[in-house]
Amino acid sequence: MKKALASTAVAALLMAPMVLAQPPVLPAYDLLLRGGHVIDAKNNIDAVMDLAIKDGKIARVAKGLSPKDAIKTIEVAGLYVTPGLIDMHVHVYNGTGEKGSYAGDLSVPPDGFTFRAGVTTVVDAGCSGWRNFEDFKDRIIDRSKTRVLAMLNIVGNGMRGGRYEQNTADMDGEATAAMAAKYPGVVVGIKTAHYNGNDWIAVDQAEIAGVKANLPVMVDFGGDRPARPLYDLLTKKLRPGDVYTHMYSGLRQEQDMKTMGPQKGMIEGRARGVWFDAGTGGGSFKWSLAVPFVKQGFKPDSLSTDLHVDSMNSATKDLLNVASKMMAIGLSLKEVVAEMTWHPARQIKREELGNLSPGSVADVAVLSVANGKFGFTDMVNTRVNGTKKLVDELTIKGGKIVYDLNGLEALPWDAPQGDVSNDNRWTSWPRPKPAAPPPPDAH
Ligand SMILES: [Zn+2]
Repeated sequence: MKKALASTAVAALLMAPMVLAQPPVLPAYDLLLRGGHVIDAKNNIDAVMDLAIKDGKIARVAKGLSPKDAIKTIEVAGLYVTPGLIDMHVHVYNGTGEKGSYAGDLSVPPDGFTFRAGVTTVVDAGCSGWRNFEDFKDRIIDRSKTRVLAMLNIVGNGMRGGRYEQNTADMDGEATAAMAAKYPGVVVGIKTAHYNGNDWIAVDQAEIAGVKANLPVMVDFGGDRPARPLYDLLTKKLRPGDVYTHMYSGLRQEQDMKTMGPQKGMIEGRARGVWFDAGTGGGSFKWSLAVPFVKQGFKPDSLSTDLHVDSMNSATKDLLNVASKMMAIGLSLKEVVAEMTWHPARQIKREELGNLSPGSVADVAVLSVANGKFGFTDMVNTRVNGTKKLVDELTIKGGKIVYDLNGLEALPWDAPQGDVSNDNRWTSWPRPKPAAPPPPDAH
């Protein structure tokens, strides 16, 4: 029987060579972004270059790549090409938590707010703790197109509201570390937030979890308490690699009222390797701090939104608006891009993200800089005027287009659409159906 089948196959081979012709060889690249200004902090690139993508990975960044070598070429001259942006501090556990909580209705579903701002990765900053992380994972992380990572709240119940968040009995470093260990690469940090007690329990338990899981601790230092001063947090309690968020809030004596710059603990903390994150949020960014801090050289290590239902509609809006704000007070485009890509990737120890090295996952943002008269506000509704605003034109995640503001990739509707059979290699959009084959011969 086997022999008979084999000889039939050989006969078919001999009789129908056309049917068994080799599949057409695909070009070397799936997608080529041509002529853009590439900014890649990890590789120290800040120049006009072409960027080629293959199989969801960065294939090459070089001058003079040929459109002949790509299935699809998009001309991006005049635009900036950066790694997909990482928003280090968001709230996206749009879950079943109590009314008015960040594990509930104050969180936003990520996909509606990320790609349109060039963001391909977000880090949920402690909406869930070890008790409800798996619900968060099932409900949001596993169902989102955005890459959603998480910092576990040191409170087992996460951000279900004040009653839960002040409960020191539910702050368990060991249980938190155990859950983090179960999901390596997805849980990328430990968070303590909103704590108003006079003691160090929240920070100490977070550090127990951070040390055990070998992950950074991000601190929202909650209420300002003389019994646990910011100076001690930054110079004694935090480890190098930990992250202090809301750096320009002024709510916990970040500012030295004599110099108007950062207090001594901020400077000493930075010197010993503590990272400083913007986390501008709804009520965590003041021009009266940001302007003098930046003048004195105290810039953020990472930019982040602290995205939630209120911040996205008030002063923060989105990550590119935060970056545009910082540019309005003196940061360069190169600096803000680094603070939204390579710096946060290092902070969360996911160094395959936030860069354009060949072999890295092909998450890319293509940005334009709009020139005009713009206004940028803060938590107390004061304004700084600016002349530049970053706009996301095109977002690519894992090698495929997921957002395209002005249809850069599209052909005019009435133009020949060409061969679309391999377009799923570079876009997530539906493509025009190829023309129907001619009807079979009636004879
Ligand atoms: Zn937050």
